[in-house]
Amino acid sequence: MSAAIIREIRIDPVVPTQSVLISTARGNRPRRDEQPVARDMRGSVETCPFCRGNEHLTPPVNMQAPAAGEWAIRVVKNPYPVLADDFLPTGLPAGIQQVIEGYGHHEVIIDHPNHGIALHQFTERHLTTLFGVYRDRMRYLYDADPRIRYILVFKNFGKAAGGSMAHTHSQLIAMPIVPHNVHDEVESSREYYRRHHACVFCTLMDEAMTMTTTSFDRRAGERRLEYETGRYIVDRGEKFVAVKPFASRYEWEVHILPVRHQSNFLAATDDELADLARVLRRTMTRLNGVVGDVQYNYFLHTVPHLKNSGDFADSFHWHLEICPRTSIPSGFELGSGLFVNTISPEDAAARLRQIVIPE
Ligand SMILES: [Zn+2]
Ligand SMILES: [Zn+2]
Ligand SMILES: [Zn+2]
Repeated sequence: MSAAIIREIRIDPVVPTQSVLISTARGNRPRRDEQPVARDMRGSVETCPFCRGNEHLTPPVNMQAPAAGEWAIRVVKNPYPVLADDFLPTGLPAGIQQVIEGYGHHEVIIDHPNHGIALHQFTERHLTTLFGVYRDRMRYLYDADPRIRYILVFKNFGKAAGGSMAHTHSQLIAMPIVPHNVHDEVESSREYYRRHHACVFCTLMDEAMTMTTTSFDRRAGERRLEYETGRYIVDRGEKFVAVKPFASRYEWEVHILPVRHQSNFLAATDDELADLARVLRRTMTRLNGVVGDVQYNYFLHTVPHLKNSGDFADSFHWHLEICPRTSIPSGFELGSGLFVNTISPEDAAARLRQIVIPE
């Protein structure tokens, strides 16, 4: 595909204070490509604490699926928590330097008994169960601990994505604050709702599915009207859609959202999760087809657990962000906060759609 060279700064439609530089000029690669790191694809490893038969090597199980019999998914405390509920007195705040106690819960979700399996190889039934475990564990922790304001569920898959354990797993961190990225999305989307009386995510999905854009041709000095359909759609199911964000920070970043407006992931039914599983499996197959053995982070953004969460019910829309790791952020990106994406999101979406999915 010989696409035109693009060099433009795109404003993130959800969080307008964030922007990304789309720069597809050849040789203009401010980021270094991530070295492909070999992944451990063995089915089972004798010394791995997450493999079946080694349950005694992990902290005691907090939850498992199925509830009885041989486990398919296991939730345990993270033995190396970044936040914990044991008492660790914080330093004295001095002047403008403020400290919040590192209180919280950090758990590991062992996704699958198979050590090196990739997500697109999971059955849809297993993926449905996995997202059900995320939901049920989040519900449990919110009920059990009134100090928790946000629970971030995420997955680091592969060394390139910071996965320290080779065995496929996800993590959950329950914290007493709302993290910055979630706060920005929640506040910005509420501001959008105030102005337009519509959810910005729903609006973006509507546009992605049937898009009409007006563009201005600077050289010709005239307005041009372009009609495009489904330009940003990567995959879609009955209830979920996978879209390539217009202002993607990462080359192969894809977001999955429920088509029907829903602010809280905890409200998703098993039936809905089954469709999410289908769209996720297909999306991961596409990413794998384009990137190779895809190593990635994904994370769930849902409405925070606050007294006034109801205020965001109409304006916020939960979603799963998948960020494949193919390049290392440069000093320019870290210093400016302006991410550089070297593949236009429109081309990336088109390439992902071309992958044939085995049923
Ligand atoms: Zn293992
Ligand atoms: Zn919405
Ligand atoms: Zn998000």
